[in-house]
Amino acid sequence: MCPYTPPTMNQFYICDACGEENEINLELTDGDHQELSSECEGCGRVNLISASFNYDINEFELEVSADDAG
Ligand SMILES: [Zn+2]
Repeated sequence: MCPYTPPTMNQFYICDACGEENEINLELTDGDHQELSSECEGCGRVNLISASFNYDINEFELEVSADDAG
């Protein structure tokens, strides 16, 4: 049995297209800087999320941009 349970973070991001709040799960064991994409539950658009772990506040900080921006 593994005595250590890696922390899983539930984080929220605001959809770049419609402003809907969406939840994503991030694991610090996957790295303290992650690039991922998530489909908005509100409008179905794909958001590109850049997550950087902030060790000062023990949370990921998210930057969101729409997949089809521009
Ligand atoms: Zn949306």
